[in-house]
Amino acid sequence: MMLGAEDSRATEEAKEAERWLADAFGLRGKLEPLPGAHDRNFKVTAADGSRSLFTIHPPGSDPRAELQAAALHHLEQHAPALPLPRLFLGRGGTPLVVVRDTAGLERRLRLTTWLDGTVWAEAPQRGPQAAAALGRLLARLDRSLAAFHHPAATQPHAWDFANAAARRDDAALIAAPERRAAAQEILHRFLLEVAPRLSNLPRQVIHGDANDRNILLDPAGEVSGLLDFGAMVETWRVNELAVAAATVAIGADDPIAAILPLVEAYCVENPIGAVEADVLFDLILTRYAVGMALAARQSRAQPEETWAVLTAMRAQNRALATARLRRAAGHEPVPERRAIENWILKQGGGFGPVLPGSLENLALLPLGADRDDTRGRPFRAALHAALAGIEGTAVGRYGEDRSIYDAQTGAERRTIHHAIDIYAPAGTPVLAPLPGRIAMIGNDTSSDGFGGIIVLEHEAGTPHRFWTFYGHLAPGSLADRTTGAVVAQGDALGRLGLPEENGNWPPHLHMQLMTALCFDRAEAIIGLSLRSAWDLWESIFPNPNGILGLRIETAAIVARDPESLLRLRRQTTSPALTLSYDTPLKIVQGEGAYLIAQDGRRYLDMVNNVCQVGHAHPRVVEAIAQQAARLNTNTRYLHDNLVEYTRRLTRLLPPELSTVFLVNSGSEANDLALRLAKAHTGGTDVMVLDHAYHGNLSSLIEISPRKFDGKGGTGRPRHVWVTEMPDLYRGRFRYGDAEAGARYAEKIATLLRDMSGLNRRLAAFFVEPILGSGGQLVLPDGYLKAACEEIRAAGGVCIIDEVQTGFGRAGSHFWAFETQGVVPDIVTLGKPIGNGHPIGAVACRPEIAAAFASGMGYFNSFGGNPVSAAAGLAVLDIIRDERLMPHAEAMGRYLRDGLTKLAERHALIGDVRGLGLFIGVELVRDRETLEPADTELKAIIEAVKAEGILLSSEGPHRNVLKIKPPLVIAKRDCDFLLQTLDAVMARLA
Ligand code: PMP
Repeated sequence: MMLGAEDSRATEEAKEAERWLADAFGLRGKLEPLPGAHDRNFKVTAADGSRSLFTIHPPGSDPRAELQAAALHHLEQHAPALPLPRLFLGRGGTPLVVVRDTAGLERRLRLTTWLDGTVWAEAPQRGPQAAAALGRLLARLDRSLAAFHHPAATQPHAWDFANAAARRDDAALIAAPERRAAAQEILHRFLLEVAPRLSNLPRQVIHGDANDRNILLDPAGEVSGLLDFGAMVETWRVNELAVAAATVAIGADDPIAAILPLVEAYCVENPIGAVEADVLFDLILTRYAVGMALAARQSRAQPEETWAVLTAMRAQNRALATARLRRAAGHEPVPERRAIENWILKQGGGFGPVLPGSLENLALLPLGADRDDTRGRPFRAALHAALAGIEGTAVGRYGEDRSIYDAQTGAERRTIHHAIDIYAPAGTPVLAPLPGRIAMIGNDTSSDGFGGIIVLEHEAGTPHRFWTFYGHLAPGSLADRTTGAVVAQGDALGRLGLPEENGNWPPHLHMQLMTALCFDRAEAIIGLSLRSAWDLWESIFPNPNGILGLRIETAAIVARDPESLLRLRRQTTSPALTLSYDTPLKIVQGEGAYLIAQDGRRYLDMVNNVCQVGHAHPRVVEAIAQQAARLNTNTRYLHDNLVEYTRRLTRLLPPELSTVFLVNSGSEANDLALRLAKAHTGGTDVMVLDHAYHGNLSSLIEISPRKFDGKGGTGRPRHVWVTEMPDLYRGRFRYGDAEAGARYAEKIATLLRDMSGLNRRLAAFFVEPILGSGGQLVLPDGYLKAACEEIRAAGGVCIIDEVQTGFGRAGSHFWAFETQGVVPDIVTLGKPIGNGHPIGAVACRPEIAAAFASGMGYFNSFGGNPVSAAAGLAVLDIIRDERLMPHAEAMGRYLRDGLTKLAERHALIGDVRGLGLFIGVELVRDRETLEPADTELKAIIEAVKAEGILLSSEGPHRNVLKIKPPLVIAKRDCDFLLQTLDAVMARLA
């Protein structure tokens, strides 16, 4: 068989390639040519089966070859974990080996690792998960490329959007008129409207070519490789995302939906700015247009799939697409919402009524998941029943969850109402509450539809254009309306329709505010949205009651899914606000010792010592509600509750502590205690126990070794002295040493001598009566007595921080310090004091209070308010009436006995300790070395959570299981915990 000229040249080239490969990289193997636009690529299979990629760059000195090698080298150094080609060094120890071809021209050769996977274009596993994986990869890639620079990257590249002007010229060569016009229009728009917005956006070197032949997927849908760095260029960073988005959208029914996981995942790791998100939609279109233009210039066939996806993209409503992309990037979907809402807020009475007559006698429809009066009936039936029971004007709420619609289908349905409904007789005229222009008129004849619709556009005097939507009108009443017509405030827009002309609904107005025109026809506008996308739709359709001015609760708080909550929480709060558990819980209700998650799952709460008398105790709730309904004000007026509470509290304390201050938290209590101590002693310095935590105020972070010695801490301040924890399990003096208490206190005496040697004066000693953050450590007998004597002898006062442990938790005593037989100078209270209502208290000796009353008043806006005092009184009543102290004592003993028995079976349990219902279980890998079992404890806590019990860890080594439940736990709850722990520890052992 004769070989053709082409074939023989290919064979010749392959032979040459084989020679070069052997010569440059010392590698022999089978070479298979691969497609490539710029370079010649070969798949090399060596005799041992190993594979690699051999690249021959075009003849001549090629700066782009240098660029690629430099970039791959940079990525190898800075992003070694990414699935990217890695360079082999060739002859001379360089990744780019120079040879001469037969024509005498220089050729640069490169050998890189082979990456396995299926190219995106052919991978059945492409989908949302793969798109997210691609987003993560590109985000990491771009983060490491941000610090990479190379002169060749600044050279123009045909695909770079920066050269859109040249591509617009090329687009004239596209043969098909419709395609030509589309590409030209997109490139024109890019040059005119998009490019100016890009000028200030971040620039860097990007890969720039995540097309469907360059992305490899593994069978699980993870990205296993990104190939072809030949299009690398220094340009706007957001182009990277646009190129990838253009790839991901191909073939999708909803191209924007396909892109969202990519953008979301990218932005978690490499956040983009609002303007970058704004231009993304146009950049994606531009990518398609550039591809079409270049195909025409190079006389290649027009890519059909590009045209198909471009057509689908161009059919998208631009405002909606932009809002969706902005949301995925973590920005407010419609940025104008802020100014529009704030403008409406300022108008006050400037809006006119939407229905004639007074809207005074309003009644809320008892509908929606949160009010659940639907009793399993379909929404329509529930609505009719609710309307029958209402006198006056019925109102349907914004944000109402008509989840009853969900009943029939598994797929998520649109159930969240983003309008306000006002029920009035058919024929009632609907008036324009503000001037505008008719933007749309429609008649939605679908069953359950809107019937007659009118949409007004408002622009004059407003910061941004916005729209108002009026649905369920009589279509006949709109017959002589025309779009574009100007409407004055108070003009009749139409009349409310009869059921048969408004989707069969009882006559009512559906009024909706619109910050963006996200639909092209009035009939397409939606009145309900997906719960999972609520943050998108509430931005497009905010609560319209600023315009309506209905004096009734028109807004329901939408119950968001935990994933959305987490995302939105990250956007508006600090990451320093930590969450419990690998998968955070969304708790929606509390009941006694149980917490109930949004999915209905009940959890036994074994760790919340704030809700001392049980979650949502009805008597506390009632006390708060009653007082809040009557009066809440500050302590500058006389009020019974303040005096009743302070008198009550002092009777529970030793008679010496006769003065009480009411504050808002444990931290505030400790801060005030510090001020009191300084005023009384004239000292400045503070003695604390190692690993202690006393609160979140600056003054308390300074005296909390747990914080100042922990992550992000700035070390011990000069005025703070840290004594060792009297730890009977791992400390210097252990269980069985009857003198341990006194011996640990000796350390304090030593420190006090050092202090006076430095001429420093002690103000206070802060100590918890059971060490919480120290690891639930019970103090040795005699410790506080000896410590307090030393402290007082040095002129300081003893402050007992009873924030964690008070109010009967210790079981045998109301206050845990009483078990040590001491009378403190100051006691600080918090957490359980209001059963979750924010209260704190400081009780002190009157002479200390006297020293503080120096003339400077003490005012606290909230501390001691009548509502807080009412909550505090209710807590004290309940502890007495429900006999919670002896109960805590009994349950605590039962639990500790059970845990001690567990220790016989589980070697991990090193120590069980506690008083009443303040218990610690210390886990160790070895009972001799006491090596802390911290990771084991974390796994146990997660596994126990999966069984429905909430626990937490404590201690310097995070190896102490903390148990401090509401005091109302039952014996069967204790059994549940003991059995679950037993089973989990056996399973994980
Ligand atoms: N003291 C101790 C011992 C605490 O455990 C805490 C809170 N964990 C505080 C003070 C501070 O209380 P709050 O968080 O109410 O300010």
